[in-house]
Amino acid sequence: MVTPPDPAELAAMVGSLEDELIKIRRSFHAYPELSGEEAQTADGVAAYLRELDIDTVVHVGGHGVLGILHGAGKGIIVGCRADMDALPINDELNQTYKSLVLGVKHACGHDVHMTIALGTARVLKQLQPHWRGSVVFLFQPAEESLDGAMAMLNAGVLEQYPIEALLALHTLPLPVGSIGLNAGPCLAGMEEFKVRFYAPAGDRDSLVQQSVSALEGLSTAHTPDSLEAFETLFRRMEVDPTLRQTVFLSCWPQAVDSIPRHHLLGLVSMADFDRRCEVHAQIKAELDRIVAVHGASYDLTYTFSNPPLHNDRDLVRAVRPALVASVGETNIRDFVAPYPFAHEDLVHFAERVPTALFWLGTANPAHGVESRLHTADYDIDEAALSIGTQAMTAALLLLLQD
Ligand SMILES: [Zn+2]
Repeated sequence: MVTPPDPAELAAMVGSLEDELIKIRRSFHAYPELSGEEAQTADGVAAYLRELDIDTVVHVGGHGVLGILHGAGKGIIVGCRADMDALPINDELNQTYKSLVLGVKHACGHDVHMTIALGTARVLKQLQPHWRGSVVFLFQPAEESLDGAMAMLNAGVLEQYPIEALLALHTLPLPVGSIGLNAGPCLAGMEEFKVRFYAPAGDRDSLVQQSVSALEGLSTAHTPDSLEAFETLFRRMEVDPTLRQTVFLSCWPQAVDSIPRHHLLGLVSMADFDRRCEVHAQIKAELDRIVAVHGASYDLTYTFSNPPLHNDRDLVRAVRPALVASVGETNIRDFVAPYPFAHEDLVHFAERVPTALFWLGTANPAHGVESRLHTADYDIDEAALSIGTQAMTAALLLLLQD
């Protein structure tokens, strides 16, 4: 009874959906919504799931949506998570599917993640007699604000659906057709801090400026600014586990009014949270040095932290053959170091359920698709939609056999 399709059959099924996937992605891209405001997006997701006759639950931890699909017999419950929110960035693409919402753009590929999850739901629904267990699709709001995963957890998602393994993917400017995999540390953690200076008003601007450049100077590496620089980073991620020690700081002045307030905000990214004390000491030493020159003082407070994301090694090992079957062994990039410049609130699920996030290549310089995440001209090679759908479907099917 339970016989999954071979990779060629699956590729054909997904291939026949390609136009539909492109249409879905473009419609999400044209109507982006900010973190916590994903009402229309949620409506679109829920409508598609219901059309597929998949059990759908809405308003889960805000605008979160669940789709629950059961296979041909009893088995494990597997989750597939896609984030939904866009960014306060103006879309400067010169494309028909350019954002129609001024100042808001899907610049982090969440339009792609949702599309692939919906495509995967469609294929798994068609293949229902060929797998066991259940799949819970988790469409998560408010990832960019780093509070949507926690909101869904607080809504009791895992109590109601005891998911035993969770898969997710994220776009990255790897060449389209390739997939990146971290067995272990996958993404940096992040801390936010605030500094309030006590100094004569006339001194504060220079204090803030000097502090911004001194603190950013503690960064041990910088976000790549071109595809070549990304490729250099990815090659290093394949061979150099010490990249895990990367510390990246960014700071900016906060508007000051007549009431004394925090004058500087910052965030520290580090994949190795064990280094926090050391980094805190470095930050303090820089601030001490700067205020001493001005005869000023300061308060420093850490206000929020999002821990580093670790992939479950066994789960990565288990799904790797499905990813290989989808894109070929030579297109799998095995990373020994995490991507050090970004964060994911998927970590809150990962702390409770074995989780694996894989990287979906979306760049294609030959077609001019080479922009970075979180930029005004971010775009993808849409061939990644079918590739991602095939890879995600194959990985879930592998887990849903016995
Ligand atoms: Zn993202």
